[in-house]
Amino acid sequence: MIGGGWRGVLLAAAFILAYVALDRVSFIHSLSVVNITPWNPPPGLGLAVLLLAGPRFFPLFFLAGVAADLVVRSLPAPLWTPLAADGLVALIYALGAHLLLRRCGFDPAFGRMRDVLWLLAVAVVGAAVAGLAYVGLYVAGGVVPPGLFAAAFARYWIGDVIGIAVLTPAILLFRLRRPVPVSARVAVEALAQGLLLAAALWLVFGLGGSANFQFFYLLFPPLIWAATRFGLRGAVAGNMAAQLGLILVFRAEDGAIVTTFQFLMLALATVTLVLGAAITERRRIQTALHARLEDLAQMSRLSTAGEMAATLAHELNQPLLAAIVFTRGAQRLLAAEPPDLSKARGALDRAVAESQRAGDIVRRLREFMGSGRAARETVDLAALLSDVIALAAPEGARRGVRFVTQVDKGPMPVHVDKVQMSQVVLNLVRNGMDAMTGGGDITLSAERVGREGRVEVSDTGPGLADEVAGHLFEPFNTTKAAGMGLGLTICRSFVEAHGGRLWLERSGPSGAAFRFTVPLFEQERGGEG
Ligand code: ADP
Repeated sequence: MIGGGWRGVLLAAAFILAYVALDRVSFIHSLSVVNITPWNPPPGLGLAVLLLAGPRFFPLFFLAGVAADLVVRSLPAPLWTPLAADGLVALIYALGAHLLLRRCGFDPAFGRMRDVLWLLAVAVVGAAVAGLAYVGLYVAGGVVPPGLFAAAFARYWIGDVIGIAVLTPAILLFRLRRPVPVSARVAVEALAQGLLLAAALWLVFGLGGSANFQFFYLLFPPLIWAATRFGLRGAVAGNMAAQLGLILVFRAEDGAIVTTFQFLMLALATVTLVLGAAITERRRIQTALHARLEDLAQMSRLSTAGEMAATLAHELNQPLLAAIVFTRGAQRLLAAEPPDLSKARGALDRAVAESQRAGDIVRRLREFMGSGRAARETVDLAALLSDVIALAAPEGARRGVRFVTQVDKGPMPVHVDKVQMSQVVLNLVRNGMDAMTGGGDITLSAERVGREGRVEVSDTGPGLADEVAGHLFEPFNTTKAAGMGLGLTICRSFVEAHGGRLWLERSGPSGAAFRFTVPLFEQERGGEG
Protein backbone atom coordinates (compact mmCIF):
# COMPACT_ATOMS: atom_id res chain seq x y z
CA MET A 1 0.00 0.00 0.00
CA ILE A 2 2.76 2.43 0.92
CA GLY A 3 5.17 2.29 -2.03
CA GLY A 4 8.40 4.15 -2.57
CA GLY A 5 8.89 7.62 -4.08
CA TRP A 6 6.49 10.49 -3.95
CA ARG A 7 3.47 8.26 -3.75
CA GLY A 8 4.84 6.71 -0.58
CA VAL A 9 5.59 10.10 0.97
CA LEU A 10 2.10 11.34 0.09
CA LEU A 11 0.45 8.25 1.56
CA ALA A 12 2.55 8.54 4.73
CA ALA A 13 1.63 12.21 5.08
CA ALA A 14 -2.04 11.41 4.47
CA PHE A 15 -1.88 8.73 7.16
CA ILE A 16 -0.34 11.13 9.72
CA LEU A 17 -2.88 13.82 8.88
CA ALA A 18 -5.78 11.39 9.19
CA TYR A 19 -4.36 10.07 12.46
CA VAL A 20 -4.09 13.57 13.94
CA ALA A 21 -7.57 14.51 12.69
CA LEU A 22 -9.09 11.36 14.23
CA ASP A 23 -7.30 12.06 17.48
CA ARG A 24 -8.63 15.61 17.43
CA VAL A 25 -12.28 14.65 16.91
CA SER A 26 -12.17 11.85 19.44
CA PHE A 27 -10.42 13.89 22.13
CA ILE A 28 -13.46 14.20 24.37
CA HIS A 29 -14.07 13.38 27.97
CA SER A 30 -10.40 12.63 28.30
CA LEU A 31 -9.16 11.44 31.63
CA SER A 32 -6.38 13.74 32.81
CA VAL A 33 -4.69 15.82 30.11
CA VAL A 34 -3.39 12.87 28.13
CA ASN A 35 -5.00 10.82 25.39
CA ILE A 36 -7.22 8.57 27.48
CA THR A 37 -10.63 8.92 25.86
CA PRO A 38 -13.79 6.81 25.74
CA TRP A 39 -13.46 6.25 22.01
CA ASN A 40 -10.03 6.15 20.45
CA PRO A 41 -10.07 5.48 16.69
CA PRO A 42 -6.42 6.40 15.82
CA PRO A 43 -5.03 2.94 16.78
CA GLY A 44 -7.76 1.46 14.57
CA LEU A 45 -6.33 3.43 11.65
CA GLY A 46 -2.77 2.60 12.67
CA LEU A 47 -3.44 -1.12 12.95
CA ALA A 48 -5.25 -1.19 9.60
CA VAL A 49 -2.25 0.46 7.91
CA LEU A 50 0.17 -1.96 9.58
CA LEU A 51 -1.97 -4.87 8.38
CA LEU A 52 -2.11 -3.56 4.82
CA ALA A 53 1.40 -2.15 4.44
CA GLY A 54 3.24 -4.45 6.84
CA PRO A 55 4.25 -4.22 10.51
CA ARG A 56 7.63 -2.73 9.53
CA PHE A 57 5.91 0.61 9.02
CA PHE A 58 5.47 1.04 12.76
CA PRO A 59 7.80 4.11 12.92
CA LEU A 60 5.11 5.91 10.94
CA PHE A 61 2.60 4.97 13.63
CA PHE A 62 4.99 6.40 16.23
CA LEU A 63 5.47 9.65 14.27
CA ALA A 64 1.70 10.05 13.91
CA GLY A 65 1.29 9.56 17.67
CA VAL A 66 3.87 12.26 18.41
CA ALA A 67 2.32 14.61 15.83
CA ALA A 68 -1.09 14.11 17.43
CA ASP A 69 0.32 14.82 20.87
CA LEU A 70 1.89 18.00 19.54
CA VAL A 71 -1.18 19.23 17.70
CA VAL A 72 -4.03 18.07 19.89
CA ARG A 73 -2.48 18.41 23.35
CA SER A 74 0.42 20.54 24.41
CA LEU A 75 3.03 17.91 25.22
CA PRO A 76 2.99 17.23 28.93
CA ALA A 77 6.42 17.33 30.59
CA PRO A 78 8.73 15.51 30.90
CA LEU A 79 9.21 14.96 27.17
CA TRP A 80 10.40 11.36 27.45
CA THR A 81 6.99 10.18 28.70
CA PRO A 82 4.94 10.90 25.55
CA LEU A 83 7.84 9.79 23.32
CA ALA A 84 8.24 6.50 25.15
CA ALA A 85 4.46 5.98 25.40
CA ASP A 86 3.88 6.62 21.68
CA GLY A 87 6.85 4.41 20.76
CA LEU A 88 5.67 1.53 22.93
CA VAL A 89 2.10 1.71 21.67
CA ALA A 90 3.30 1.65 18.05
CA LEU A 91 5.55 -1.33 18.80
CA ILE A 92 2.80 -3.26 20.57
CA TYR A 93 0.36 -2.84 17.71
CA ALA A 94 3.10 -3.72 15.21
CA LEU A 95 3.60 -6.94 17.15
CA GLY A 96 -0.16 -7.50 17.07
CA ALA A 97 -0.19 -6.99 13.29
CA HIS A 98 2.77 -9.34 12.94
CA LEU A 99 1.05 -12.07 14.95
CA LEU A 100 -2.19 -11.64 13.02
CA LEU A 101 -0.51 -11.87 9.64
CA ARG A 102 2.17 -14.46 10.31
CA ARG A 103 0.75 -16.65 13.05
CA CYS A 104 -3.04 -16.46 12.90
CA GLY A 105 -3.59 -16.75 9.15
CA PHE A 106 -5.37 -13.39 9.20
CA ASP A 107 -6.44 -12.24 5.74
CA PRO A 108 -6.55 -8.42 5.36
CA ALA A 109 -9.33 -8.89 2.78
CA PHE A 110 -11.39 -9.41 5.96
CA GLY A 111 -14.21 -11.62 4.78
CA ARG A 112 -14.24 -14.56 7.18
CA MET A 113 -15.44 -15.14 10.72
CA ARG A 114 -11.93 -16.14 11.80
CA ASP A 115 -10.54 -12.78 10.61
CA VAL A 116 -13.14 -10.97 12.71
CA LEU A 117 -12.50 -13.07 15.81
CA TRP A 118 -8.71 -12.82 15.56
CA LEU A 119 -8.90 -9.06 15.07
CA LEU A 120 -11.11 -8.73 18.13
CA ALA A 121 -8.78 -10.94 20.16
CA VAL A 122 -5.72 -8.92 19.17
CA ALA A 123 -7.63 -5.70 19.90
CA VAL A 124 -8.57 -6.89 23.38
CA VAL A 125 -5.11 -8.16 24.30
CA GLY A 126 -3.12 -5.51 22.41
CA ALA A 127 -5.12 -2.66 23.91
CA ALA A 128 -4.64 -4.11 27.39
CA VAL A 129 -0.88 -4.32 26.99
CA ALA A 130 -0.74 -0.90 25.32
CA GLY A 131 -2.91 0.53 28.08
CA LEU A 132 -0.65 -0.84 30.83
CA ALA A 133 2.41 0.61 29.12
CA TYR A 134 0.82 3.94 28.28
CA VAL A 135 -0.87 4.64 31.61
CA GLY A 136 2.11 3.18 33.52
CA LEU A 137 4.52 5.56 31.78
CA TYR A 138 2.36 8.59 32.47
CA VAL A 139 2.01 7.60 36.10
CA ALA A 140 5.79 7.15 36.29
CA GLY A 141 6.24 10.53 34.60
CA GLY A 142 4.06 12.12 37.25
CA VAL A 143 1.42 13.29 34.77
CA VAL A 144 -1.35 10.92 35.90
CA PRO A 145 -1.83 10.57 39.66
CA PRO A 146 -1.21 6.95 40.83
CA GLY A 147 -4.71 6.83 42.36
CA LEU A 148 -6.20 7.19 38.86
CA PHE A 149 -4.29 4.24 37.40
CA ALA A 150 -7.15 1.71 37.38
CA ALA A 151 -9.75 4.13 36.02
CA ALA A 152 -7.34 5.47 33.40
CA PHE A 153 -6.36 1.98 32.33
CA ALA A 154 -10.00 0.85 31.96
CA ARG A 155 -10.93 3.88 29.91
CA TYR A 156 -7.85 3.58 27.70
CA TRP A 157 -8.37 -0.12 27.17
CA ILE A 158 -12.02 -0.04 26.10
CA GLY A 159 -11.43 3.14 24.11
CA ASP A 160 -8.77 1.43 22.00
CA VAL A 161 -10.74 -1.82 21.60
CA ILE A 162 -13.77 0.09 20.31
CA GLY A 163 -11.60 2.21 18.04
CA ILE A 164 -10.09 -0.91 16.50
CA ALA A 165 -13.32 -2.92 16.38
CA VAL A 166 -15.06 -0.15 14.48
CA LEU A 167 -12.44 1.51 12.30
CA THR A 168 -10.01 -1.27 11.32
CA PRO A 169 -12.68 -3.45 9.66
CA ALA A 170 -14.06 -0.41 7.85
CA ILE A 171 -10.67 0.46 6.37
CA LEU A 172 -9.89 -3.15 5.45
CA LEU A 173 -13.26 -3.69 3.79
CA PHE A 174 -13.74 -0.40 2.01
CA ARG A 175 -10.13 0.52 1.16
CA LEU A 176 -9.48 1.85 -2.33
CA ARG A 177 -11.55 -0.85 -4.00
CA ARG A 178 -13.65 -0.28 -7.04
CA PRO A 179 -17.01 0.60 -5.53
CA VAL A 180 -19.58 -2.14 -5.90
CA PRO A 181 -22.57 -0.81 -7.86
CA VAL A 182 -25.47 -0.43 -5.49
CA SER A 183 -28.99 -1.05 -6.74
CA ALA A 184 -31.77 1.41 -5.94
CA ARG A 185 -33.42 -1.18 -3.72
CA VAL A 186 -30.27 -1.61 -1.64
CA ALA A 187 -29.81 2.16 -1.38
CA VAL A 188 -33.39 2.62 -0.18
CA GLU A 189 -33.02 -0.16 2.38
CA ALA A 190 -29.72 1.26 3.68
CA LEU A 191 -31.35 4.68 3.95
CA ALA A 192 -34.20 3.19 5.97
CA GLN A 193 -31.68 1.54 8.27
CA GLY A 194 -29.91 4.88 8.71
CA LEU A 195 -33.18 6.60 9.57
CA LEU A 196 -34.07 3.93 12.08
CA LEU A 197 -30.63 4.33 13.64
CA ALA A 198 -31.08 8.10 13.89
CA ALA A 199 -34.47 7.59 15.51
CA ALA A 200 -32.95 5.12 17.98
CA LEU A 201 -30.17 7.59 18.85
CA TRP A 202 -32.77 10.25 19.46
CA LEU A 203 -34.73 7.91 21.72
CA VAL A 204 -31.62 6.91 23.68
CA PHE A 205 -30.34 10.41 24.27
CA GLY A 206 -33.37 12.62 23.75
CA LEU A 207 -36.27 10.80 25.26
CA GLY A 208 -34.48 8.48 27.66
CA GLY A 209 -31.98 11.08 28.69
CA SER A 210 -28.50 9.83 29.31
CA ALA A 211 -29.14 9.06 33.00
CA ASN A 212 -28.15 5.45 32.58
CA PHE A 213 -28.77 4.83 28.88
CA GLN A 214 -31.91 2.90 29.71
CA PHE A 215 -32.94 2.77 26.05
CA PHE A 216 -29.53 1.83 24.71
CA TYR A 217 -30.80 -1.55 23.47
CA LEU A 218 -32.86 0.32 20.86
CA LEU A 219 -29.64 0.77 18.90
CA PHE A 220 -29.43 -2.97 18.25
CA PRO A 221 -32.36 -3.45 15.82
CA PRO A 222 -31.09 -1.13 13.06
CA LEU A 223 -27.59 -2.63 13.27
CA ILE A 224 -28.89 -6.19 13.32
CA TRP A 225 -31.01 -5.33 10.31
CA ALA A 226 -27.95 -4.01 8.46
CA ALA A 227 -25.80 -7.00 9.41
CA THR A 228 -28.37 -9.67 8.53
CA ARG A 229 -29.22 -8.08 5.18
CA PHE A 230 -25.79 -6.94 4.02
CA GLY A 231 -23.40 -9.17 5.98
CA LEU A 232 -20.04 -7.83 7.09
CA ARG A 233 -20.24 -4.75 4.90
CA GLY A 234 -23.59 -3.82 6.40
CA ALA A 235 -22.29 -4.50 9.91
CA VAL A 236 -19.16 -2.41 9.43
CA ALA A 237 -20.97 0.51 7.80
CA GLY A 238 -23.67 0.35 10.48
CA ASN A 239 -21.08 0.30 13.24
CA MET A 240 -19.33 3.35 11.80
CA ALA A 241 -22.58 5.28 11.55
CA ALA A 242 -23.70 4.27 15.04
CA GLN A 243 -20.40 5.10 16.70
CA LEU A 244 -20.14 8.45 14.93
CA GLY A 245 -23.67 9.26 16.02
CA LEU A 246 -22.95 8.16 19.58
CA ILE A 247 -19.80 10.22 19.79
CA LEU A 248 -21.47 13.31 18.36
CA VAL A 249 -24.25 13.11 20.92
CA PHE A 250 -21.99 12.04 23.72
CA ARG A 251 -19.69 15.05 23.29
CA ALA A 252 -22.42 17.18 24.80
CA GLU A 253 -23.06 14.89 27.76
CA ASP A 254 -21.31 15.11 31.05
CA GLY A 255 -18.58 12.56 31.41
CA ALA A 256 -19.61 10.99 34.69
CA ILE A 257 -20.75 7.65 33.31
CA VAL A 258 -18.18 7.09 30.63
CA THR A 259 -17.35 3.50 31.46
CA THR A 260 -20.96 2.28 31.32
CA PHE A 261 -21.29 4.01 28.00
CA GLN A 262 -18.06 2.48 26.73
CA PHE A 263 -19.13 -1.05 27.57
CA LEU A 264 -22.46 -0.52 25.82
CA MET A 265 -20.67 0.78 22.73
CA LEU A 266 -18.30 -2.17 22.76
CA ALA A 267 -21.12 -4.69 23.09
CA LEU A 268 -23.01 -3.06 20.24
CA ALA A 269 -19.97 -3.00 17.95
CA THR A 270 -18.82 -6.57 18.59
CA VAL A 271 -22.28 -8.16 18.37
CA THR A 272 -22.92 -6.41 15.07
CA LEU A 273 -19.53 -7.37 13.68
CA VAL A 274 -19.78 -11.04 14.62
CA LEU A 275 -23.33 -11.28 13.30
CA GLY A 276 -22.26 -9.67 10.01
CA ALA A 277 -19.37 -12.11 9.73
CA ALA A 278 -21.69 -15.06 10.37
CA ILE A 279 -24.04 -13.90 7.64
CA THR A 280 -21.22 -13.29 5.15
CA GLU A 281 -19.74 -16.69 5.95
CA ARG A 282 -23.08 -18.41 5.50
CA ARG A 283 -23.57 -16.76 2.14
CA ARG A 284 -20.12 -17.81 1.02
CA ILE A 285 -20.78 -21.40 2.04
CA GLN A 286 -24.09 -21.38 0.21
CA THR A 287 -22.41 -20.11 -2.94
CA ALA A 288 -19.70 -22.76 -2.64
CA LEU A 289 -22.29 -25.49 -2.10
CA HIS A 290 -24.20 -24.30 -5.10
CA ALA A 291 -21.05 -24.41 -7.23
CA ARG A 292 -20.38 -27.95 -6.00
CA LEU A 293 -23.88 -28.99 -6.90
CA GLU A 294 -23.41 -27.53 -10.38
CA ASP A 295 -20.23 -29.58 -10.77
CA LEU A 296 -22.07 -32.70 -9.62
CA ALA A 297 -24.91 -31.92 -11.99
CA GLN A 298 -22.45 -31.53 -14.85
CA MET A 299 -20.90 -34.89 -13.96
CA SER A 300 -24.27 -36.53 -13.77
CA ARG A 301 -25.22 -35.02 -17.16
CA LEU A 302 -22.06 -36.39 -18.71
CA SER A 303 -22.71 -39.84 -17.28
CA THR A 304 -26.34 -39.76 -18.46
CA ALA A 305 -25.12 -38.69 -21.88
CA GLY A 306 -22.61 -41.53 -21.83
CA GLU A 307 -25.31 -44.04 -20.96
CA MET A 308 -27.53 -42.73 -23.72
CA ALA A 309 -24.74 -42.50 -26.28
CA ALA A 310 -24.98 -46.12 -27.45
CA THR A 311 -28.70 -45.88 -28.16
CA LEU A 312 -28.35 -42.45 -29.70
CA ALA A 313 -25.49 -43.63 -31.96
CA HIS A 314 -27.80 -46.34 -33.17
CA GLU A 315 -30.50 -43.74 -33.65
CA LEU A 316 -28.13 -41.59 -35.71
CA ASN A 317 -27.44 -44.44 -38.06
CA GLN A 318 -30.94 -44.38 -39.54
CA PRO A 319 -31.06 -40.85 -40.91
CA LEU A 320 -27.44 -41.08 -42.04
CA LEU A 321 -28.11 -44.28 -43.97
CA ALA A 322 -31.25 -42.76 -45.45
CA ALA A 323 -29.33 -39.65 -46.48
CA ILE A 324 -26.77 -41.82 -48.26
CA VAL A 325 -29.47 -43.79 -50.08
CA PHE A 326 -31.19 -40.59 -51.27
CA THR A 327 -27.90 -39.01 -52.36
CA ARG A 328 -26.91 -42.14 -54.34
CA GLY A 329 -30.35 -42.11 -55.96
CA ALA A 330 -29.87 -38.47 -56.93
CA GLN A 331 -26.46 -39.30 -58.44
CA ARG A 332 -28.02 -42.04 -60.52
CA LEU A 333 -30.87 -39.81 -61.68
CA LEU A 334 -28.39 -37.12 -62.71
CA ALA A 335 -26.16 -39.62 -64.55
CA ALA A 336 -29.06 -40.94 -66.64
CA GLU A 337 -29.48 -39.77 -70.25
CA PRO A 338 -31.38 -37.44 -70.15
CA PRO A 339 -30.94 -36.61 -66.43
CA ASP A 340 -34.22 -36.50 -64.45
CA LEU A 341 -33.68 -33.15 -62.75
CA SER A 342 -36.95 -32.85 -60.85
CA LYS A 343 -36.76 -36.35 -59.33
CA ALA A 344 -33.10 -35.76 -58.44
CA ARG A 345 -34.06 -32.53 -56.68
CA GLY A 346 -36.72 -34.39 -54.71
CA ALA A 347 -34.19 -37.05 -53.65
CA LEU A 348 -31.69 -34.39 -52.59
CA ASP A 349 -34.36 -32.57 -50.55
CA ARG A 350 -35.05 -35.77 -48.64
CA ALA A 351 -31.32 -36.34 -48.14
CA VAL A 352 -31.09 -32.85 -46.64
CA ALA A 353 -34.08 -33.52 -44.37
CA GLU A 354 -32.54 -36.76 -43.09
CA SER A 355 -29.19 -35.05 -42.47
CA GLN A 356 -31.01 -32.37 -40.52
CA ARG A 357 -32.69 -35.06 -38.44
CA ALA A 358 -29.28 -36.51 -37.63
CA GLY A 359 -27.98 -33.02 -36.87
CA ASP A 360 -30.91 -32.46 -34.48
CA ILE A 361 -30.02 -35.57 -32.50
CA VAL A 362 -26.43 -34.42 -32.13
CA ARG A 363 -27.53 -30.87 -31.29
CA ARG A 364 -29.89 -32.02 -28.54
CA LEU A 365 -27.25 -34.22 -26.98
CA ARG A 366 -24.68 -31.44 -27.13
CA GLU A 367 -27.11 -28.89 -25.74
CA PHE A 368 -28.02 -31.26 -22.96
CA MET A 369 -24.41 -31.78 -21.94
CA GLY A 370 -24.04 -28.01 -21.77
CA SER A 371 -20.88 -26.00 -21.27
CA GLY A 372 -21.14 -25.78 -17.51
CA ARG A 373 -21.93 -22.08 -17.85
CA ALA A 374 -25.36 -21.10 -16.68
CA ALA A 375 -27.28 -18.86 -19.07
CA ARG A 376 -30.99 -18.17 -19.07
CA GLU A 377 -33.06 -17.86 -22.21
CA THR A 378 -36.75 -17.72 -22.97
CA VAL A 379 -38.09 -21.03 -24.25
CA ASP A 380 -41.50 -22.62 -24.55
CA LEU A 381 -42.25 -25.24 -21.95
CA ALA A 382 -43.86 -27.55 -24.53
CA ALA A 383 -40.81 -27.30 -26.82
CA LEU A 384 -38.55 -28.10 -23.89
CA LEU A 385 -40.58 -31.23 -23.10
CA SER A 386 -40.56 -32.42 -26.70
CA ASP A 387 -36.78 -31.91 -26.92
CA VAL A 388 -36.34 -34.12 -23.86
CA ILE A 389 -38.70 -36.76 -25.26
CA ALA A 390 -36.68 -36.79 -28.49
CA LEU A 391 -33.54 -37.42 -26.42
CA ALA A 392 -35.11 -40.19 -24.35
CA ALA A 393 -37.21 -41.81 -27.08
CA PRO A 394 -34.57 -44.18 -28.49
CA GLU A 395 -33.86 -45.61 -25.06
CA GLY A 396 -37.59 -45.70 -24.32
CA ALA A 397 -38.20 -47.68 -27.53
CA ARG A 398 -35.53 -50.17 -26.50
CA ARG A 399 -37.15 -50.63 -23.08
CA GLY A 400 -40.72 -50.82 -24.33
CA VAL A 401 -41.72 -47.42 -22.94
CA ARG A 402 -44.36 -45.32 -24.68
CA PHE A 403 -44.39 -41.53 -24.30
CA VAL A 404 -47.62 -39.61 -24.02
CA THR A 405 -47.77 -35.81 -23.92
CA GLN A 406 -50.61 -33.59 -22.75
CA VAL A 407 -49.78 -29.96 -23.18
CA ASP A 408 -52.08 -26.94 -22.70
CA LYS A 409 -52.80 -24.96 -25.86
CA GLY A 410 -51.17 -21.58 -26.25
CA PRO A 411 -47.64 -20.44 -25.51
CA MET A 412 -46.03 -21.16 -22.14
CA PRO A 413 -42.81 -19.13 -22.19
CA VAL A 414 -40.36 -19.68 -19.36
CA HIS A 415 -37.07 -17.88 -18.76
CA VAL A 416 -34.72 -20.67 -17.76
CA ASP A 417 -31.33 -22.25 -17.99
CA LYS A 418 -32.28 -24.70 -20.72
CA VAL A 419 -29.58 -27.22 -19.84
CA GLN A 420 -30.66 -27.35 -16.20
CA MET A 421 -34.36 -27.57 -16.98
CA SER A 422 -33.84 -30.34 -19.54
CA GLN A 423 -31.80 -32.17 -16.94
CA VAL A 424 -34.68 -31.93 -14.47
CA VAL A 425 -37.21 -33.34 -16.94
CA LEU A 426 -34.84 -36.02 -18.26
CA ASN A 427 -33.99 -37.13 -14.71
CA LEU A 428 -37.67 -37.58 -13.89
CA VAL A 429 -38.26 -39.40 -17.18
CA ARG A 430 -35.30 -41.75 -16.67
CA ASN A 431 -36.34 -42.46 -13.07
CA GLY A 432 -39.75 -43.46 -14.48
CA MET A 433 -38.15 -45.67 -17.12
CA ASP A 434 -35.89 -47.27 -14.49
CA ALA A 435 -38.93 -48.08 -12.37
CA MET A 436 -40.81 -49.83 -15.19
CA THR A 437 -38.69 -52.88 -15.83
CA GLY A 438 -41.23 -54.44 -18.17
CA GLY A 439 -42.04 -51.25 -20.08
CA GLY A 440 -45.11 -49.03 -19.73
CA ASP A 441 -46.27 -45.45 -20.27
CA ILE A 442 -44.63 -42.19 -19.31
CA THR A 443 -46.94 -39.22 -19.46
CA LEU A 444 -45.54 -35.70 -19.63
CA SER A 445 -48.01 -32.90 -19.15
CA ALA A 446 -47.63 -29.16 -18.97
CA GLU A 447 -50.35 -26.73 -17.95
CA ARG A 448 -50.74 -23.15 -16.90
CA VAL A 449 -51.67 -22.66 -13.27
CA GLY A 450 -52.01 -18.96 -12.53
CA ARG A 451 -48.68 -17.33 -13.32
CA GLU A 452 -46.80 -20.62 -13.29
CA GLY A 453 -46.27 -23.46 -15.67
CA ARG A 454 -46.77 -26.85 -14.02
CA VAL A 455 -45.13 -29.97 -15.39
CA GLU A 456 -46.02 -33.50 -14.38
CA VAL A 457 -44.02 -36.61 -15.22
CA SER A 458 -45.87 -39.81 -14.35
CA ASP A 459 -45.21 -43.48 -15.00
CA THR A 460 -47.05 -46.76 -14.72
CA GLY A 461 -44.38 -48.41 -12.56
CA PRO A 462 -44.72 -49.87 -9.06
CA GLY A 463 -44.36 -46.55 -7.18
CA LEU A 464 -41.71 -45.66 -4.66
CA ALA A 465 -40.15 -47.98 -2.14
CA ASP A 466 -41.00 -47.03 1.45
CA GLU A 467 -37.39 -46.63 2.50
CA VAL A 468 -36.78 -43.95 -0.14
CA ALA A 469 -40.06 -42.11 -0.06
CA GLY A 470 -39.36 -40.47 3.32
CA HIS A 471 -35.97 -39.06 2.29
CA LEU A 472 -36.60 -38.53 -1.36
CA PHE A 473 -34.76 -35.25 -1.80
CA GLU A 474 -31.80 -36.05 0.37
CA PRO A 475 -28.55 -36.89 -1.41
CA PHE A 476 -27.24 -40.48 -1.71
CA ASN A 477 -30.70 -41.94 -1.23
CA THR A 478 -31.04 -44.62 -3.88
CA THR A 479 -32.35 -48.14 -4.50
CA LYS A 480 -30.39 -48.61 -7.72
CA ALA A 481 -27.24 -50.68 -7.85
CA ALA A 482 -25.43 -48.06 -9.92
CA GLY A 483 -27.44 -45.09 -8.62
CA MET A 484 -25.88 -42.09 -6.91
CA GLY A 485 -29.08 -40.87 -5.33
CA LEU A 486 -28.32 -37.33 -6.48
CA GLY A 487 -30.83 -36.98 -9.31
CA LEU A 488 -33.76 -35.65 -7.33
CA THR A 489 -31.54 -33.49 -5.10
CA ILE A 490 -30.10 -31.80 -8.17
CA CYS A 491 -33.58 -31.50 -9.73
CA ARG A 492 -35.01 -29.77 -6.68
CA SER A 493 -32.08 -27.38 -6.38
CA PHE A 494 -32.38 -26.39 -10.05
CA VAL A 495 -36.14 -25.92 -9.87
CA GLU A 496 -35.83 -23.80 -6.72
CA ALA A 497 -33.07 -21.72 -8.31
CA HIS A 498 -35.67 -20.88 -10.96
CA GLY A 499 -38.23 -19.84 -8.37
CA GLY A 500 -40.30 -23.01 -8.60
CA ARG A 501 -41.07 -26.09 -6.49
CA LEU A 502 -40.66 -29.82 -7.07
CA TRP A 503 -42.53 -32.53 -5.22
CA LEU A 504 -43.78 -36.11 -5.35
CA GLU A 505 -47.44 -35.80 -6.30
CA ARG A 506 -48.48 -39.40 -5.84
CA SER A 507 -47.02 -42.87 -5.58
CA GLY A 508 -48.75 -46.24 -5.51
CA PRO A 509 -49.03 -49.59 -7.24
CA SER A 510 -50.30 -47.86 -10.39
CA GLY A 511 -47.27 -45.63 -10.67
CA ALA A 512 -45.53 -42.51 -9.44
CA ALA A 513 -45.96 -38.88 -10.47
CA PHE A 514 -43.61 -35.98 -9.86
CA ARG A 515 -44.61 -32.38 -10.38
CA PHE A 516 -42.70 -29.15 -10.60
CA THR A 517 -43.58 -25.55 -11.26
CA VAL A 518 -41.67 -22.78 -12.94
CA PRO A 519 -42.76 -19.12 -13.18
CA LEU A 520 -44.07 -18.14 -16.60
CA PHE A 521 -42.17 -15.38 -18.31
CA GLU A 522 -44.70 -12.74 -19.22
CA GLN A 523 -43.17 -10.39 -21.75
CA GLU A 524 -45.91 -7.81 -21.37
CA ARG A 525 -45.32 -7.65 -17.63
CA GLY A 526 -41.63 -7.27 -18.29
CA GLY A 527 -40.45 -9.84 -15.82
CA GLU A 528 -40.78 -13.26 -14.41
CA GLY A 529 -44.43 -13.66 -13.44
P1 ADP B 1 -30.92 -42.25 -8.41
O1 ADP B 1 -31.72 -42.21 -9.66
O2 ADP B 1 -29.45 -42.11 -8.64
O3 ADP B 1 -31.24 -43.39 -7.50
P2 ADP B 1 -32.66 -40.12 -7.57
O4 ADP B 1 -32.50 -39.07 -6.53
O5 ADP B 1 -33.06 -39.67 -8.92
O6 ADP B 1 -31.32 -40.92 -7.59
O7 ADP B 1 -33.77 -41.15 -7.07
C1 ADP B 1 -33.72 -41.66 -5.77
C2 ADP B 1 -34.56 -42.89 -5.62
O8 ADP B 1 -35.94 -42.57 -5.71
C3 ADP B 1 -34.35 -43.94 -6.68
O9 ADP B 1 -33.27 -44.79 -6.37
C4 ADP B 1 -35.66 -44.70 -6.69
O10 ADP B 1 -35.68 -45.68 -5.67
C5 ADP B 1 -36.68 -43.65 -6.26
N1 ADP B 1 -37.46 -43.15 -7.39
C6 ADP B 1 -37.31 -42.00 -8.05
N2 ADP B 1 -38.22 -41.85 -9.02
C7 ADP B 1 -38.98 -42.96 -8.98
C8 ADP B 1 -40.12 -43.44 -9.75
N3 ADP B 1 -40.63 -42.71 -10.75
N4 ADP B 1 -40.66 -44.63 -9.41
C9 ADP B 1 -40.14 -45.36 -8.39
N5 ADP B 1 -39.09 -44.97 -7.64
C10 ADP B 1 -38.50 -43.80 -7.94
